[in-house]
Amino acid sequence: MSMFKDVPVDVGVIYEGERIRKEDMHVELGGPKVKEKFELARVKKPEEIEDEKITIIGPDLKDMEEGKTYPFGILIEVAGPTLEPELEGVIERRIHAYCNYIEGFMHLNQRYDIWLRLGKKSFQKGLNSFQYVGKVLHRLFKSELPIIEKIQVTFITDPEKLKELYNEAVQIYEARDARARGLKDEEVDKFYGCILCQSFAPTHVCVITPQRYSNCGAISWFDGRAAANVDPKGPVFTVEKGDLLDPVKGEFSGVNDAVKKKSLGEIMRVWLYTAFGYPHTSCGCFEAVAFYIPEVDGFGIIHRGYRDIAVNGLGFSTLADSTAGGRQVDGFHGISIEYMRSPKFLQADGGWGRVVWLPKEVKERVKDFIPAELLDKVATEEEAKTIDELKTFLKEHNHPVVERWKEEIVAVEEAAPAEAKEEAAPMPVVTATTLPITAGGFKIILKDAKIYAKKVIVRSMKSEKSEKR
Ligand code: SF4
Repeated sequence: MSMFKDVPVDVGVIYEGERIRKEDMHVELGGPKVKEKFELARVKKPEEIEDEKITIIGPDLKDMEEGKTYPFGILIEVAGPTLEPELEGVIERRIHAYCNYIEGFMHLNQRYDIWLRLGKKSFQKGLNSFQYVGKVLHRLFKSELPIIEKIQVTFITDPEKLKELYNEAVQIYEARDARARGLKDEEVDKFYGCILCQSFAPTHVCVITPQRYSNCGAISWFDGRAAANVDPKGPVFTVEKGDLLDPVKGEFSGVNDAVKKKSLGEIMRVWLYTAFGYPHTSCGCFEAVAFYIPEVDGFGIIHRGYRDIAVNGLGFSTLADSTAGGRQVDGFHGISIEYMRSPKFLQADGGWGRVVWLPKEVKERVKDFIPAELLDKVATEEEAKTIDELKTFLKEHNHPVVERWKEEIVAVEEAAPAEAKEEAAPMPVVTATTLPITAGGFKIILKDAKIYAKKVIVRSMKSEKSEKR
């Protein structure tokens, strides 16, 4: 800790994952209440950088009013003989980890979604200036990434300056993302993985391919390659593809092996291009959630910045909680905005032909990548606010999922024998307050159970045994 003697609070990896609740915060920077916020890393020429310089444009922490929210930007500029612009995305993503090492300073999300809070206790201990945060960032960046020889950090809270830099940052993100577009998963022999989010989601492993962007949307396949080359033992690593086991679902033997190893055996299998079965794990900083809507057999999408409820009546945080934490949850899938621009987007589930609803803001951002014939068939909050409205909209616009409804009805009718259709509602064959079942080495106890069955087969254990022989 001697490195941080001149910083009034503790700094260390133990503070990663620390949450600061609203009632414990001194101030909030960025977050859902403000539009303009960003973090950006740029690789510069050595002569353009004044090493260890910290600049604050706008009010400093000590000038801010307790309990208030402020617009916020962080610009990290670095130089070093082996640094290339390809590393910018990965350097930028480390801001998240290093800010979180500071006691009582919370950083969430990335790029244009950043959300920080300074805790009251840390402010009272003296963390009252961005100067301290800048010092920590300088030292951690240089010690953890020795390829960085010079670094300067700028904090922006002035609304006018922020607007100007925000617009520039958005263009830079777009240029980075566009670079990886066009390259196909089939054309590369390696993928990349990232475990930076394991501090929040211990079993999460991002698999970054050219056509399946990282969940946070901040690390492309090119960024992954650059990071794994300069720091092969770091959180971003090479994933050998191995054998292609399923081209539609996107299953690769090498991906399975890597994920198994990096999740310490928790996740055994991953299907990259589907939200069902063995979907890619969801950490906590994904940009959006694709959620299955059983009533229409399609997917809704909600992004982090959407403050209203989705068409199924749930808000982003509830839907995010349904899948976050490094889990694989059938039908709930953390994704980046860039993945929605990929031809492999939910490929195994029907891709855009299966998406039925998303907020207008996101639709606008990705509209050039939605097949033209589907563009008007996907509803936004302006066309459907409830499932009933959505059903009507989909029918009126002849969305491809409507065909699936017909297929399902036919399938059910075919499966049911003629006489069964006229049958009255089935009666329960078992009712029990406690019903233990033993299966596959597990004991399952059903409480207050009523079991309905079309047919009951009663066999003596003796006859089963003799049948097996
Ligand atoms: S979302 Fe994925 S790529 Fe992004 S920081 Fe987390 S683990 Fe890494």
